[in-house]
Formats: sequence, C-alpha cells, structure tokens
Amino acid sequence: MNDALQSWGRYPRARQRVIRLRDRFAPLPALESHALPRGSGRSYGDVCLDDGGTLLDARGLDRFIAFDPATGVLRCEGGMLLGTILDFCVPRGWFLPVVPGTRFVTVGGAIANDVHGKNHHASGSFGCHVRAFELLRSDGHRFTCTDADNADWFAATLGGLGLTGLIIWAELQLRRVPGAWFDTETLRFDRLADFFELSAQSARDHEYTVAWVDCTARGAALGRGVFSRGNHAAPPAGADAPRPARLRMPFTPPFSLVNGASLRAFNTFHFHRAPKLVRRASRHYLPWLFPLDHIREWNRMYGPRGFLQYQCVLPPATAQDGVRELLERIAASGTGSFLAVLKQFGGMPSRGLLSFPRPGTTLALDFANQGQRTFELLDRLDDVVAGASGAVYPAKDARMSGERFRQYFPGWRQFEAFIDPAFSSGFWRRVSL
Ligand SMILES: Cc1cc2nc3c(=O)[nH]c(=O)nc-3n(C[C@H](O)[C@H](O)[C@H](O)COP(=O)(O)OP(=O)(O)OC[C@H]3O[C@@H](n4cnc5c(N)ncnc54)[C@H](O)[C@@H]3O)c2cc1C
Repeated sequence: MNDALQSWGRYPRARQRVIRLRDRFAPLPALESHALPRGSGRSYGDVCLDDGGTLLDARGLDRFIAFDPATGVLRCEGGMLLGTILDFCVPRGWFLPVVPGTRFVTVGGAIANDVHGKNHHASGSFGCHVRAFELLRSDGHRFTCTDADNADWFAATLGGLGLTGLIIWAELQLRRVPGAWFDTETLRFDRLADFFELSAQSARDHEYTVAWVDCTARGAALGRGVFSRGNHAAPPAGADAPRPARLRMPFTPPFSLVNGASLRAFNTFHFHRAPKLVRRASRHYLPWLFPLDHIREWNRMYGPRGFLQYQCVLPPATAQDGVRELLERIAASGTGSFLAVLKQFGGMPSRGLLSFPRPGTTLALDFANQGQRTFELLDRLDDVVAGASGAVYPAKDARMSGERFRQYFPGWRQFEAFIDPAFSSGFWRRVSL
C-alpha cells in the first residue's frame, strides 16, 4: 500500500495500491479488490481516490496516435496531459476547444469530470468536443464509443467519474486559432449586480470570461471583484512566449498560511490594485488561462490538513439571490480563499449523464480544512445550493452527502447500470450509501 498519490486538496488521505499502465493494447492487470482509473490527481477531493483499493495510474498512456492538420482531429491516449497537446497543436494553429484552469490534467480525467473552462458560455464543456473514445472494462471487453455507436456508454462515461471503465484513447476535435495569444480586458466591479451585467454584455463579444470575487467583502461591497475577458488573437509584434514556471512551494508549512487576516489583506489589496476602467493587454495563453500553474505545488500552503474546494452552479432564475446568500454566509464565517471565482455557464447542453456544467452561475472557492467548522460551513452552503435547485461539482468535492448528490444529479439512476463491477472510488462509496 502506498500513500503517495493523494488528491489536489490533500483531503481525505487514502492508502492505495498503485499500478502504472503503459501499454494501451494490454489487458487490465489482475485486481485484488476494487480499483479506479487515475489521471494527474488534479481533482480536489475523493473522485480520484480509492482507499483500500488499486489506482490504475494512466499517466503512462501518453502517446499521440493520429492528427489531421487539415481538420484538427486528434487521437491520443487517455493519460496524455492537456499541456502536451497544447505544446503540439498551438504552433500548428490549433487549440483545445475547452481547457480547465490547469494544463496538468489528462485527457481521461478531463472526460471523466467533463471539465469546463472560461469559455463555457461559447463552447460548452470538454465532452462537447469529444468525437470518440475506447473503453476497456475489467472483464476484458473493449469497445469504441461515439454519440452514434454505444451512445449510452458515451453519455455515461462523459462525466462518469472513472467508474464505467478505463478510457484508453480519445479522439478530440480541436479548433483553429491565430496563435498562442489572447486580446484581454480587465476591469473591476463594485457589487454583485455588476458582475451579472458585465457577464451579459461580455458574452456577446468575448469568448472567454471569468471574474475573481472578494469573498471577504460585506454590505454594499458584497460581490465586488475583478472581471476578465478575452479572445484568441494573433501574436503582437515582437512577442516572446513566457518562460516556463520555476516557482515552487518548497515544503508543507506546519499550519495553513491562509487565515482570516491574510485573506482580508490579500482580497482588499487585489481588488484595489485592479483598474477601475477597462485595461487592455495582449497575453500569452499560459499565464492567462493557467495562472495557478505558475507556482508548482501551491496546494501545500494549506498545511498538512489540506483544504476543501467548493464549486457550485445555480440556475439563472435563482442565481443572483443564491450567490448573494452564499457570499454572505462565507464572509460571515471569516474564512474563504484568495481565489474565489464567479463565471456564467452558457446554454450548450452537456452530453454526460452526470455532467456538472449546466446553464447558470458558478462560484468556486478553496477553504483551509479547519475540521468541523469548515464542514458545518459547507453544509450551510449546500442548504443554499439545494434550495436554489443548483448542484455541487464532484471533481471538487470531498464531503457532500448521498442525499444531496442524488438531488443534484438525477441521472444517477440511469448511470448505475454502467458502473464497472470492479471499479469504485471514495466519492462513489460515500454518495451511493
Ligand atoms: C488549479 C486547478 C484548476 C482547475 N480548474 C478547473 C476548471 O476550470 N474547470 C474544471 O472543470 N475543473 C478544474 N479543475 C479540476 C480538474 O480539471 C479535474 O479534476 C480533472 O478531471 C482532473 O484530471 P486528472 O487528469 O488530474 O484526473 P484525476 O483527478 O486523477 O481523476 C479525475 C477522474 O477521472 C477519472 N479518470 C482519470 N483518468 C481516467 C481514464 N484514463 N479513464 C477513465 N477515467 C479516468 C478518475 O477515476 C477520476 O474519477 C482544476 C484543478 C486544479 C488543480
């Protein structure tokens, strides 16, 4: 048993046997008990953990299989990192149509959580651009899934949390771009209502939008933040690509560096540093789309107890009141994160039975794990989300109850029939009890 492979939030801890997969033509190894496919472990909670079981570490399945430079159709193995795909395709004038906030994520992991990016309102989720994949089941059966062939397996596996089988390879439709750069705009907003107005205006002309929100602000300033938007663009004259990140959090401090005082100081500073009026800039995609990748292992700053991320989505009809209530509860708790993200999801339907993205407003924050205090706060946030007919994101979760999960994801009933009998996860055992 090995406790080296944890999730990004480093909570909960799990002890697992790890088998590294390298050959896409090989059968699955013999399994002693339950098992779970594993990508880069960039999920925050327990969807990528299988305490007492076996992790099928897919990062060795990382080869390109085919690429058509005329159509942008790429086939690669399931353990390939999105960053490796971008390194390959951006110089050729192609881009992944959807990327999350880190490029250290595998194709299999991106499919299994049906991840979203800053362009959800324009391009939907990752699964909207998956043309096909091959699934390997623990009984040795392997088959190709598209939305025409094995369409029910296709829908169960997009957002299927790794439980339907191992994704061996996938075929993705890339999109054309003029280069590695973005024309971006940044401006600050003073209250929550302004975020909704800015999002509506920006969605018309900007493919990518996202806002940082000051989760410590209260009263009239509640929901104030900084809005960013951008579009793919040709490189500016004389532009150089940024150097790869060298910063690294060198060790895990004995306690969390994130506390009430550091949060208030950072949030106030970050808000006031942002421009009042629109500031335009050309930005390379690496720092603009993946700002957190700049500091390796930043998750260590939360100390040995780790942290919990909370990401929810609220439908349009309840979003404004619901987000206000969530922010009030978070600010009153005196806890929260440096990085609180607000974003409007668009109307393009997700194709997965358990996909998280749906029309509405999504809010995401990190919370240092302070034990019962943190869990009680997150339960109070769940009350708001459930009352607003919203949902919490399994990829970022480590504690939602089975009752809440079934309410947020009514597709679970159909989904159960597709679970591989040898596969399980900490998340699934918790929510299916
Ligand atoms: C800094 C940061 C920013 C992020 N930003 C976003 C964001 O903007 N949007 C968003 O949606 N998510 C975001 N995430 C979450 C991340 O994109 C997802 O958790 C993603 O699924 C992680 O992929 P992974 O390769 O690390 O997979 P893991 O976390 O290892 O696994 C995730 C799931 O995929 C399954 N899986 C992995 N490989 C396979 C395979 N080959 N076959 C079958 N199943 C498999 C696992 O069983 C598990 O259920 C972010 C995470 C971080 C750390």
